[in-house]
Amino acid sequence: MSSPKPLEGLNKIAPYVGGESEIEGMGKVIKLASNEGAFGPSPKTIEALRTAAKDYHRYPDGDSLQLRELLSSKFNLETERIICGCGSDELISLLCRSYAGSGDEILCSAHGFAMYPIYGRTVGAEIITADEDNITIDVNNLLEMVTENTKLLFIANPNNPTGTYLPESELKRLHEGLPGGVLLVIDSAYAEYTSSEDYSAGIDIVRANKNVAMLRTFSKIYGMGGVRLGWGYFPEEVADVLNRMRSPFNVSYPAQVAGATAILDEEFIEMSQSHNNKWLAWTIEQCRSAGLVVPNSYCNFALLRFPEKPNDDTEHPHKDAKAANSFLKSRGIIVRGLSGYGLPDALRVSIGQEDEMRLVVSLLQEFME
Ligand SMILES: *Cc1c(COP(=O)(O)O)cnc(C)c1O
Repeated sequence: MSSPKPLEGLNKIAPYVGGESEIEGMGKVIKLASNEGAFGPSPKTIEALRTAAKDYHRYPDGDSLQLRELLSSKFNLETERIICGCGSDELISLLCRSYAGSGDEILCSAHGFAMYPIYGRTVGAEIITADEDNITIDVNNLLEMVTENTKLLFIANPNNPTGTYLPESELKRLHEGLPGGVLLVIDSAYAEYTSSEDYSAGIDIVRANKNVAMLRTFSKIYGMGGVRLGWGYFPEEVADVLNRMRSPFNVSYPAQVAGATAILDEEFIEMSQSHNNKWLAWTIEQCRSAGLVVPNSYCNFALLRFPEKPNDDTEHPHKDAKAANSFLKSRGIIVRGLSGYGLPDALRVSIGQEDEMRLVVSLLQEFME
């Protein structure tokens, strides 16, 4: 008997494996695996959602107009060029569906965000990766990999899971080296955590060009990962295409209400930023003193690399990332192993609240002793 056949190539997609959220046999766990923001949504956002619940039977505004107008005035953008999505994930998916297909190439950096290859493969495109330099995106390597089949180039800046970033001058050099037909997508999911002078989320480059887009999310500093809300700033023609491609009601009413409140809550954002600055620096310093290799991070997580040492001593097995992950798990803490990102020697630890950071760091120190 014959059976329905999916499109060719779909079986090559490895489904996304998110950070874990439970440990068997353990009631309360500390979850530092998915960079979800240390505090949850702001109290004002929670209140706005509560008040809005009585209207949940109404369909949302299909254009998310109020939210887009708020984003437009906050960042000084043209409202028509902003599109909101069900997470920035949806926008990554829409870009792949609109600009690449079978036989096309989508270019990414070696340790780039896992969603780009996943969505890229759903449209039958080939994923090409460029090597990094010291776990940092390398502009020359990316430009060398561009061919006449390249349609999209995705980078996260700063990048997840490495935490490193390219300065604005390098972003500009990357864009200038690309043919006009390649759409450069700058995913600035962590922009709110980065205060470096030479950093740019990419708004000016999008403003001035027809082949650059910027993506943002409410899943990180706004603590709204479960709400599913992201947005992007696009060239006019790209925005027009995505508006035709997206679902008419792609952003739920609760997401629009929560986003419109969260975006105005400067106090909460500033509190989250200063908390992150303090505990990220502290975590990095403590982990370095414990013998781990930790690059500077510009996000709400630290990348902890476990140095390789030749070790024949079976009584004292090698202290590697895998063993550290199991050790933390046995104590009720979930962090992110990165084998799937080509970094089997590393764990990614999100910045949580003070007591959570003190606990995870003291356990890591105990493990490394
Ligand atoms: C977390 C993250 C996102 C956010 O995705 P959403 O779909 O908005 O939750 C996007 N890009 C990168 C690089 C991320 O780390």
